[in-house]
Amino acid sequence: MIEDKNQQRTSLSELGEFGLIDHLTKNFKINHKSTIKGVGDDAAVLEFNNKKIVLTTDLLVEGVHFDLSYMPLKHLGYKAVMVNLSDVYAMNANPTQITISIAVSNRFPLEALEDLYAGVETAAKIYNIDVVGGDTTSSNTGLLISVTAIGEVDQEVYRSGAKPSDLLVVSGDLGGAYMGLQVLEREKEVYKVNPNSQPDLTPYSYIIERQLKPEARKDIVKLLKDLDVKPTSMIDISDGLSSEIIHLCKQSNAGCDLYEDKIPLDPQVISTCEEFNLDSTTVALNGGEDYELLFTISQTDFPKIKANPNFSVIGYMKEVSEGMHLVTRGESRIPIKAQGWKNFGD
Ligand SMILES: [Mg+2]
Repeated sequence: MIEDKNQQRTSLSELGEFGLIDHLTKNFKINHKSTIKGVGDDAAVLEFNNKKIVLTTDLLVEGVHFDLSYMPLKHLGYKAVMVNLSDVYAMNANPTQITISIAVSNRFPLEALEDLYAGVETAAKIYNIDVVGGDTTSSNTGLLISVTAIGEVDQEVYRSGAKPSDLLVVSGDLGGAYMGLQVLEREKEVYKVNPNSQPDLTPYSYIIERQLKPEARKDIVKLLKDLDVKPTSMIDISDGLSSEIIHLCKQSNAGCDLYEDKIPLDPQVISTCEEFNLDSTTVALNGGEDYELLFTISQTDFPKIKANPNFSVIGYMKEVSEGMHLVTRGESRIPIKAQGWKNFGD
C-alpha cells in the first residue's frame, strides 16, 4: 500500500465549481500582450494584429452530464457543440471553428461514434462552423467529449460591465431543459419496470427537445446588432438563472432586483411543474441547460427591445450594497443564493 502523506484533504464540494476554478488558477500569470482576457468569463479574449478572437472549451462526461439510456448519440454530438457555441455567443462573438476530442470505451461500436459525429456535422453545418481538429483516445469509464470553440469578435461583451439601473434581460424562456430531464428520468424508471411500455411524450415535446437538442442563440447576437443594442454585460444560462445572475452581479460589482412574475416560462414548463409538484420559479432559477442569453442593457436602449417577443425584462441592476434579491409575486424580497455544485453533488 502506498501511504497517503497528504494529510490535508479538502472536499471539492466545499469550494464549489467556481471557487475551485478560482483556487486552481489564482497563480496563473498573463505574460502575453495578446491575452486580453484570461480565465473568468464565458470565453477568453485574444488579440492578434488588431483582430480579436474568443476561445472556450467544455468537457462532457457520461453519467454526469448525459445519460445514454435516453440521450441519442446524434443529439449528444449536436448538444456538445451547442454548449460551446453558446459561450461564444455570450461574448457577443461569432463562432468560426471547433475541435472535438473524445475518450471512448470499447463498448461503443463504430456505428455509435458515426452517429455522434453525424450530430457534430449537423451542428457545424447549421451554425456555419469548420471542424478543424481533435483527439480520440480510449476510456475505461464511459464516454467523455471535449469541444473547443473559436470565434471572431469586434465588440466583446464581458460579465463585468453592468451598471446600477441597467435592465436585466433574458432571451427565450427558462426551465424547459430541466423539466424535459425530469420527464425523461421518469420514463426511464417506468421502462425499467415495464420494457414494453410505450409512453406518449407528445405533451412534453417542447421541453424534451430543450433537453435533448438545445439551440445556441446565434439569432440573439444578430438581433441585438440589428437593433443597435450593445449589452453592458452578458452570460449564457448553462447553470440556472440564479447562478448566472450572481456571476453578472459579482463581476460587475453590482446588486439587482429580479421579479418573479417577469421570469419567462413556456406553458409546457408550467403544466409539467404542476404535474411533478415542483415550483416553476425554483426550476427556472436552478434548473440550468437552457442556453439562453442573460444580459444587461442601458435604460436608454429599452425602447429598442420593448415588445420584442424574443426578450423579457426580468429586473434591474442596483448598487452592490443593496444586494441581490428575488421580488416574489407576494412582493417579499428573498436573497438570491448560489446553488451547490451539482457535478460533485453534496
Ligand atoms: Mg457560459
